[in-house]
Amino acid sequence: MQAVVDARVNLEAALNEAIQNQQFELYYQAQVSDRDGIVGVEALVRWFDPKRGMVSPAEFIPLAEETGLILPIGSWVLETACQQLAAWADQPAMAHLSIAVNVSARQFRENNFVSQTLATLERTRANPQRLKLELTESVLIADAEDVIVKMNALKAIGIGFAIDDFGTGYSSLSYIKRLPLDRLKIDQSFVRNILMDANDAAISRAVIAMATSMGLGVMAEGVETEAQRDFLASLGCHTYQGYLFSKPLPIQEFEAFATRF
Ligand code: C2E
Ligand code: MG
Ligand code: MG
Repeated sequence: MQAVVDARVNLEAALNEAIQNQQFELYYQAQVSDRDGIVGVEALVRWFDPKRGMVSPAEFIPLAEETGLILPIGSWVLETACQQLAAWADQPAMAHLSIAVNVSARQFRENNFVSQTLATLERTRANPQRLKLELTESVLIADAEDVIVKMNALKAIGIGFAIDDFGTGYSSLSYIKRLPLDRLKIDQSFVRNILMDANDAAISRAVIAMATSMGLGVMAEGVETEAQRDFLASLGCHTYQGYLFSKPLPIQEFEAFATRF
């Protein structure tokens, strides 16, 4: 138990240093539609620690949420993504791309989340129409009225919203119906075995049908094979993210990939 506590304390101290020393980088993973090719990217944060090497967000985001360090990390992610949008606006090959940014519950709950986001957009001159925020169901179940007010304020200036990892949380459909959403993302845990597991296929089919009938877009995460992509397309899902197309890449590599695609 002591070893677990020590490891946590060490990780927290290192994360604090990482914020001071700017040890983060954004990687970009293509989001691909059957009709239009690459339509956007998801920005995924990476931490390069001098001792640990690259640390996956799955390892440090939960701790960052608990300690509140997600607030400075999240602001840096949003600022960097908006700077990238502004830079792409001047590159004809990239100007149509949107960037999706993950927002954790702790960030979204902050009283100044809306004003901070607006200030970042103004400062960077990024086009709000190209910014998508990915919220998990854990964000949504917090305080319904507060969530709706914040989402509506951001939606009013053109920001889009997706529910990430859809189907893994506890939000009710009558509540989801009230949110200004653009898209549901089918969680990769359903996509992984979609060809082998009848339940995963049934859940995916239901999510796609629901999104479509509510007038929302739907995107599948974790698409690794052509067979998965073809099956999803046969169910009516035509936008995908996954290793079949590309892993998350550093900016130069993503731009080279997008130019070749
Ligand atoms: P997510 O938002 O659901 O992101 C998708 C994750 O799936 C990413 O893991 C991505 O690298 C991985 N992935 C993409 N395609 C495939 C595939 O074909 N197969 C498999 N097996 N995996 C695939 P990553 O980058 O490790 O991020 C993990 C989670 O950490 C993200 O899940 C997100 O919840 C969180 N995260 C990442 N960046 C940020 C951030 O800037 N802010 C916040 N709050 N959370 C972040
Ligand atoms: Mg995401
Ligand atoms: Mg996800």
